[in-house]
Amino acid sequence: MFNQTTDVTVIRRVAIVGSGLAGLTAAILLQSHGHDVTVFEKSRGPGGRLAAKRVNGSSVDIGAQYFTARNPDFLPFLARYAGPDSFAKWHGRFGFQAPTGDWWAFPEEPRYVGQPRMTAITRALSVHVPVEAETRVGKLARRGDGWSLEASGGRDLGEFHQVIITAPPAQARALLADSGLGFLAEQLNDAVSRVLPCWAVAAHFPECPWPDHEGMRCQHPALDWVANNSSKPGRNGQGQWWVMHASSAWSQQHLDTAPDRVAGKLVDAFRELTGYPGMPDEMLSHRWLYARSDGGGQPGHLWFEENGIGLAGDWLSGGRVEGAFNSATGLVQAMASQG
Ligand SMILES: Cc1cc2nc3c(=O)[nH]c(=O)nc-3n(C[C@H](O)[C@H](O)[C@H](O)COP(=O)(O)OP(=O)(O)OC[C@H]3O[C@@H](n4cnc5c(N)ncnc54)[C@H](O)[C@@H]3O)c2cc1C
Repeated sequence: MFNQTTDVTVIRRVAIVGSGLAGLTAAILLQSHGHDVTVFEKSRGPGGRLAAKRVNGSSVDIGAQYFTARNPDFLPFLARYAGPDSFAKWHGRFGFQAPTGDWWAFPEEPRYVGQPRMTAITRALSVHVPVEAETRVGKLARRGDGWSLEASGGRDLGEFHQVIITAPPAQARALLADSGLGFLAEQLNDAVSRVLPCWAVAAHFPECPWPDHEGMRCQHPALDWVANNSSKPGRNGQGQWWVMHASSAWSQQHLDTAPDRVAGKLVDAFRELTGYPGMPDEMLSHRWLYARSDGGGQPGHLWFEENGIGLAGDWLSGGRVEGAFNSATGLVQAMASQG
């Protein structure tokens, strides 16, 4: 789909809110159709939940851990626009734990990661389109048949024919509501209620604390996922970095707990789970308020043609990295079919 050339009859100026995978995919595709795009990102760099933190001589993925590529268009898109070296298969042993405590293997399926870190993909994609970082879009205001955008501090961001919002649903709803578009904002109420938080902790061990798996879906009141980040392709550095994700329920209960206390508690849970007696020599934590969506109606994307506003993102299409890509490509197709 992405390498079809479309003869657009009208070149539009399109603003894209958010530079995660959905926003960058939409921007690249619209630009390849001849439109004039600008991406606005509130954070310092692109990537969204494809996120990594720099650590001594290396980096560790604290958001998405890996991605699938069931859509046959996904890997060719990444190879073309992010480059074939920006991602690779993760040849790990993945286990999920039964309620009995036994470990079972994940179903056979290729799993991919950005290399040398997850953000390598979005960094490389972002080179193709103009991205205005550290710019939180605060309001949209009607100007003729288009939109004038304003940053949170009031700065004028320009006028656009159409706007695509790829923020998680709570942030998308707030932007729509602050723009006087309550009738669109209220359509996101169910999606907002389904978004779950996640505490992520990365811990460095001088030696391998658990030799049986590289990725584990756990049965533990605190822990949901544990992975050996150092086993992913292209990672370097001494010792091993492990990533621990708390369960949604535990994260919700500990939303206001101090980050270092969260790190201590999740490392204790990890030691209880694995029986490893040692302690990490370095730890860091990150709280994701909007980590993942808990099912619900997921129409793929939302396109309000009469308003020239589209919404895309993982939460509209399966809640994962590949879903973000699918959502953005679906929205761009819907916009293209409008002419
Ligand atoms: C802890 C964790 C683990 C995960 N594990 C996996 C996994 O193993 N496999 C998998 O497939 N998926 C996983 N996911 C989910 C995956 O990360 C997401 O599905 C995907 O990255 C979402 O991409 P997106 O572009 O839809 O949204 P995002 O990446 O959230 O991008 C939205 C962007 O919008 C920006 N933004 C928001 N509001 C504004 C505004 N007003 N103005 C400007 N910018 C704004 C944000 O800063 C952000 O950069 C995980 C997520 C988390 C948090």
